[in-house]
Order: sequence, then C-alpha cells, then structure tokens
Amino acid sequence: MEKCSFCGRTKKEVNVLIAGVSGHICDSCIEQAHQIIAEETKEKESFDINDIKLLKPIEIKAFIDQYVIGQDDAKKVLAVAVYNHYKRLSQQKPDDDVEIEKSNIIMVGETGTGKTLLARTIAKMLHVPFTIVDATILTEAGYVGEDIETILTRLLQVADYDVQAAERGIVFIDEIDKISRKSDNPSITRDVSGEGVQQGLLKLLEGSIVNVPPQGGRKHPDQKLIPVNTKNILFVAGGAFDGIERKIGQRLNTKMVGYSASAAKEVIDRDNLLQYIAPQDLKSFGLIPEIIGRLPVLTYLSPLDRKALRNILTEPKNSITKQYKKLFKMDNIKLSFDIKALDYIVDKALEFKLGARGLRSICETIMIDAMFELPSGTEKSFKLTLEYAKKKISKTNMKKLRVA
Ligand code: ADP
Repeated sequence: MEKCSFCGRTKKEVNVLIAGVSGHICDSCIEQAHQIIAEETKEKESFDINDIKLLKPIEIKAFIDQYVIGQDDAKKVLAVAVYNHYKRLSQQKPDDDVEIEKSNIIMVGETGTGKTLLARTIAKMLHVPFTIVDATILTEAGYVGEDIETILTRLLQVADYDVQAAERGIVFIDEIDKISRKSDNPSITRDVSGEGVQQGLLKLLEGSIVNVPPQGGRKHPDQKLIPVNTKNILFVAGGAFDGIERKIGQRLNTKMVGYSASAAKEVIDRDNLLQYIAPQDLKSFGLIPEIIGRLPVLTYLSPLDRKALRNILTEPKNSITKQYKKLFKMDNIKLSFDIKALDYIVDKALEFKLGARGLRSICETIMIDAMFELPSGTEKSFKLTLEYAKKKISKTNMKKLRVA
C-alpha cells in the first residue's frame, strides 16, 4: 500500500501523497520540512557578521527610499553615518594612529514622521539585530523602572543570545527628549528621572563592557550576567523635542543681532526651523553635554505634508494599501482604491492632526466591515470608493482614532 516514506501514514490518512522515484511524501511532512528549511535558512541569514554588504551612501539612501518617504536630509546624514560606522568596523586594527570614532546618531522630529522607521529600515538593510527601547521606562539603578542595562537585554534577545551579533546591532532609543533635565542649569538636587538616566546611558553610548542580565529586570536575581561590549553597537536616539523650535529661533536671532542681520533674516525659513538644529539647542532643551557629545551625528525630520502623507499610503514597498491588497488577495479578492478615497483618507489624517500613524487607523476604520464580511461572500473584487470611505468614517467617532 502507498504510504508516506517519512511518517508512514497511508494515503487514506493524509490529504495529499506525492510520489517520488522510490518513495512518497505526504502534505503534512512537506509542511514540516518546509518549516525546518525556513527556520534553518532564517538562522543562517540572521546576523552573520560576514554577511554585511557594505553599500555606498548613495545606495544606502536608495534602499531607504523604498520604505521611507521624503526626509532627504535625514536619509543622507544617516546613510553617511551608517557607512562610516561599518567602515570603522571593517578596520578593526588601525594600521596608523587614526582611529575612526563611533558615530551614534540623534534624530529630532515630530512624532510619526519616520524616525523609528528609518532606524528599522537601516537594520533591515544591514541584517543586524535591532531593538527599540523607550527612554521613559529607564531609571537609575535602584529606582522603580528598568535598569539601563536592560536595553542590551533586548538586543541580546533579538540576536538569539548571539553576543557577537548583538555587539554589532543597532539600538533605537526612542523619546530621548523625555529624559531631559528640567532646566539647563545643573541642579544641586538630584534629578532621578532625567539626568541620572542620561548619566547611566553615557557608558553604553561611548563603548564599554556592560554586564547584561539575560532575562532582564530584577525579577531573576540569580541570573548569570553576560558581558556585552557596546563599542560597535550603533545607537540611534530619537525624540520630538516639543518646543525646541523656539530655542533654535532664539539662538538664530541672537546670532543675528549685530552683524548683517537683515541679510541673514531673509534666508531663514521660519516655517521649518528644525533644519537649523545644532547641538547647543539640545543642551538648551536639557540634554547634558556629555550625552550630546556621544551622539555626534545630529539630524532632523520634517513634518509630513499632504503630498508626503499621500505618498506614504501607496508608495513604500510595504505601504498600507499594498498590505490591504495582499490581505484581500489571500481570500482571492482583488482590492482597488479610488484615488479620491485615498485623498480623502489623507484629508482626514490632516484634519485631525493624526499624522502618518493616523493613516493606518483611518484605513482600518474604513476597511473593517469589508474585512469582516467579504471573506464569507462571493464577490471577487472590491473597490474602495470615496462614497464608501465617507460612509464608514461618518459612522465613527473620530475621537476614537486619536493615536498615542
Ligand atoms: P516616529 O518614530 O517618528 O514617531 P514612526 O517611524 O514610528 O514615527 O512612524 C509611524 C508610522 O508612520 C510608520 O510605521 C510608517 O508606517 C509611517 N511613516 C511615518 N513617517 C513615514 C515616512 N517618512 N515614510 C513612510 N512611512 C512613514
């Protein structure tokens, strides 16, 4: 009787039995074998150090362009920083006295403009472990919250505890502005939430051997600590720095008093002061000079305008509309979007100041009924029209759509 040469089940016991030259294989063994192969190749792909293909800055930017809309200045600065970082890695034993210093990065820009996406895209390109930590959960050792070292715990976890791989990873520290000290003047009283954490971050950023609790937290006091060298870990910090434009403006104004003030004023683009950001503005905002010094690459992200939001819907390689199309295709339904409907989604995101993050929640609100009903129906295509979108949105309380 014909049976699977792998699991021994007979034809009757399986869905499909495929014949080979001298044996058979059933559908569930194929499925299992497929999973094994997927896992094996994933393992291999994951973070092999020799795998890092050093793209040139222009190529790096071209790669990022596939996923991130606009933000050309930030992309350029990041492309160069990443390129130099990996050049530095490939030159571990300098043959002269010139040692290339680490180029950790800090990005300033409103929330939802693509800071995390940029960092994530670079990690994807480099095939290195990547993790995001929120600076607000960090506290100095001994206080409630997470110890600074746990940043590296997460990196170790994504690297599957491959220390070597983790040591070349990228850590995105989000909301770095939230650990600013409350005033520009160093205070006499200790500022637990802000300055202490900044002090703690210093040793991580500059490169040192940090003993990392592999499970994180303080819940496992007996765990054996893993030493991790942060020398080659690229840290990318990001923050909205609400109100920093004022500090930039003040600085630009003071600078202009005195000489050639009238000429200089004209070239300043007051609508987007972030582009003039300089390290001293971060200091005025409350980052300590030592931290600023260890994040030498400073760049900014512009607020997303209508055109950028519209592009985000359709252009990136994994844009929201492409994702919906794929979801529907899995049910053999061809999904299409009316241009007017897409414009309307952008209008709503702008109207409610929801930014790029809002695009997703608006789409979700519009699509939920279709996604609920269509898989059980007979329709093989669905076109999202302006009318349909309007109808769905009018039924929603837009307040619900507010994004964090
Ligand atoms: P930030 O870190 O600046 O707060 P994110 O990078 O997390 O913002 O952006 C949130 C989401 O908005 C992203 O997942 C992405 O879908 C979308 N997005 C934001 N900015 C862009 C951009 N410039 N290009 C493409 N998508 C973007």
